[in-house]
Amino acid sequence: MSEHSALGRTRIAPTPSGFLHEGNAFAFLLTAELAKRHGASVLLRIDDLDNDRKRPEYVEDIFLTLEWLEINWQEGPKNAAELESAWSQHHRLHLYEEALTMLREKELVYACGCSRKQLAAFDSPTDDAHTCRSGNLLLDMPDTAWRLRIPKEVEVNFKNLNGETKVLLPDELLPDPVVRRRDGIPAYQVASVVDDHHFGIDLIVRGEDLLPSTAVQLFIAQQLGLDDFLNATFHHHPLILDEKGEKWSKSAGEGKESYLRKDRLALSGIMAKVAAFLAAT
Ligand SMILES: [Zn+2]
Repeated sequence: MSEHSALGRTRIAPTPSGFLHEGNAFAFLLTAELAKRHGASVLLRIDDLDNDRKRPEYVEDIFLTLEWLEINWQEGPKNAAELESAWSQHHRLHLYEEALTMLREKELVYACGCSRKQLAAFDSPTDDAHTCRSGNLLLDMPDTAWRLRIPKEVEVNFKNLNGETKVLLPDELLPDPVVRRRDGIPAYQVASVVDDHHFGIDLIVRGEDLLPSTAVQLFIAQQLGLDDFLNATFHHHPLILDEKGEKWSKSAGEGKESYLRKDRLALSGIMAKVAAFLAAT
């Protein structure tokens, strides 16, 4: 495998808010395969900050699906009990809060009390008509989200698996994203980059729909001095589509039952897609 550069650690990062679908399975298998090629270990990170959507059957589904896909991971929880005792994101809340405090001290966040409907009236949260942006709301006011103020035309860059450097404009891709939710929970953009830094992840495999998130997270990493994240290798893969030609998004199951794991045929189809994708890479 000398043609592939050696990397240390990647991660598979599902969210327990629904039953995993073929799109997730494709992403997991691809990540595991790329880890193998680059000699990287795999961490299982379960993004479980959102208690409202987390259900025991969805947590269980993650472990059962990885087993069904015959994916091995070297670090992270092996079962629901280990998740709760040691690996849950709730154990790392203080790290996300530290990051938010640093962003606040750098005056990079503002409070936004807008509802979804109110925001829909603007082209983007950076719109002049969006008055929260002028900082008229107190950051400590209850029931307000924190948005990240990304300077216009600020650039970030990352390297991909081919060693090429890509330049992105976070302000254009995802203007003023939420970094702390209305309920006070750190948002995905903060938790994900803080976790990747915390665990020493140097290979990040994710769907191309997350390219705007990559841009935002690189900006956060710049601000917080998370150099290892800035130096990580990224791979943004195309999304596989469902039978309607749409991005897989719905929970693939009902009640306590996964549809995906009942479908051996689906598995061979997904494995073929991964193999075809890798052959073309
Ligand atoms: Zn607002």
